[in-house]
Amino acid sequence: AAAFDPAVYRSDFPILDRQAASGAPLAFLDNAASTQRPTQVIDAMSDCYRSYYANVHRGIHTLSEESTAAFEQARVTVAQFLNAKRPREVIFTAGATASINTVARSWGDANVAAGDVVLVTIAEHHANIVPWHQLAARTGCRVEFLPINDGFTIDDEVMVEALDRLRPKLFAFTAASNTLGTIFPVQRWTKLAHDHGATVLVDAAQAAPHQVVDVQQWNADFVAFSGHKVCGPTGIGVLYGKEALLEAMPPFLGGGGMIHDVTTTGFTCAGLPEKFEAGTPPIVEAIGLAAAVKYITEVGLDRIAAHEHALSEHAESRLREITGVQIVGPVAGAVPNQKNGIISIHLPGVHAHDVSQQLDSAGVAVRAGHHCTMPLHHFLKLSATARASFYFYNTIEEADRFVDAVIEVQSKFAPSGRKRRPRT
Ligand code: PMP
Repeated sequence: AAAFDPAVYRSDFPILDRQAASGAPLAFLDNAASTQRPTQVIDAMSDCYRSYYANVHRGIHTLSEESTAAFEQARVTVAQFLNAKRPREVIFTAGATASINTVARSWGDANVAAGDVVLVTIAEHHANIVPWHQLAARTGCRVEFLPINDGFTIDDEVMVEALDRLRPKLFAFTAASNTLGTIFPVQRWTKLAHDHGATVLVDAAQAAPHQVVDVQQWNADFVAFSGHKVCGPTGIGVLYGKEALLEAMPPFLGGGGMIHDVTTTGFTCAGLPEKFEAGTPPIVEAIGLAAAVKYITEVGLDRIAAHEHALSEHAESRLREITGVQIVGPVAGAVPNQKNGIISIHLPGVHAHDVSQQLDSAGVAVRAGHHCTMPLHHFLKLSATARASFYFYNTIEEADRFVDAVIEVQSKFAPSGRKRRPRT
């Protein structure tokens, strides 16, 4: 196969030609927080606003019928992207956070009781922790955390022991860590959890942009992801659920669009997917999301994964040569398919915010902080990390600029640190 050339795609992303405030050309390496959008997505959205926008499902007039058709076609496109059996298994939400909260409120309140266990990993984003803490406060269930090992993943034996001992009602885990860059084996873990009677929710926020997500192959019960991380708009995400589960769940939000009948004494629900889409849905965002998943599908998710992996391996191999730079995550390339395009670093004696600020002056955009994974940072005894995250439009030159900037920060802020031996 021909080598992957990011230049082919960069011309679709005018924002990538920008400069940072310092005047340096921008190397946008904050894709785990949010990606950029290609012209194709921006055009699909402005085309709707300019030429056929109206509220969906309600009006029997030309614009409403055209918007409704485009909105429902977007659902079909997303169902194909996930390889869902039917479009009605795809619920449009406000984002991955809203998707997980919907499961916690709707499925959780109906199925979880005092004494039950919700099992998560220590590597979860707050979006896959806080809703379960809230569920625990409402129901008296318990949230239990699986620890990660020295290789920044979880051994099957540790998981099986926990599943045997805790018999969780739900196992909710991320397909890929937004801090460590670890890719978890979703299909295998889902099978183990199902064998122990647990329902499975997969947080695919960091998987959907970078690898093929096949919900039937995963066999997960619920899958969540966000539009803005797959080159789509903000304000939209997806909750995939197996049809029978969604059918059995009560709605979470009540309002227009989700009802079959309303009287002064009560209501009956609409069917799927409307039951979970109360109020005016994110219409233009759904149309933009469909354009986005089509775009990345055309780029090719396997090629995206391979290119990001090559960038990670290159940057990491250089970073690991620098005494005093610790990489907080698995070694890229050590185990096949275990590390994505995220590199979090810790420079002993240098605050992550200083790293990020210095990198910004070199035009390199990375994120500093706990990345909404405070329990993971506590577990690792770190207060913050600086995180670079690649996407398919990033180049090897940008990866090198990141490493060069880290070397410069380190010599500036931690001159003695360069002589210390790294822990890993
Ligand atoms: N899960 C993971 C693993 C994430 O990285 C993120 C976003 N940082 C979320 C959930 C939440 O996504 P959103 O903020 O779009 O709802």
